[in-house]
Amino acid sequence: MHELSIVTHVIKTLEEIAEENHIVKIGSVTLEIGEVSGIISDYFVECWDYFKKKKPLVEEAVLKLISIDAITFCEDCKQEYETVKYGRICPYCGSEHTYLLQGNECNIKEIEAETSE
Ligand SMILES: [Zn+2]
Repeated sequence: MHELSIVTHVIKTLEEIAEENHIVKIGSVTLEIGEVSGIISDYFVECWDYFKKKKPLVEEAVLKLISIDAITFCEDCKQEYETVKYGRICPYCGSEHTYLLQGNECNIKEIEAETSE
C-alpha cells in the first residue's frame, strides 16, 4: 500500500506542475528513490502502470527510477557511512548519535513535457 500512496502523491504533484507550466502531456518522469525509503521499485512500477492509464497527463509517460544510496552521519565523530551495511550504530566510534543524511527520499527529479505540434 505504501507504493500505491506514493504513486498517487507523485501523480498529484505532476498534475500541479503541469498546470503551472501549461503542460498537456508528460513524456517522461525521473524519480529519485532512496535505498531505505521502503519503496520496492518493481511494485512501484506496477502501481504506476496501473494509475497512469487513468490520467491522460501521464498516460504515455516513461518512468525512470534512480536509486539513491543511503548514507548516515555520525554526530560524534563526524563521519559518514553506509546505512544499509551498518545501521544506526557508527562503525567508526560505536556511537548511536547518528542520523540519516540521504536514502529516504522519493523526489521528482526531472520531467520532460511531450511537445505537441
Ligand atoms: Zn562515529
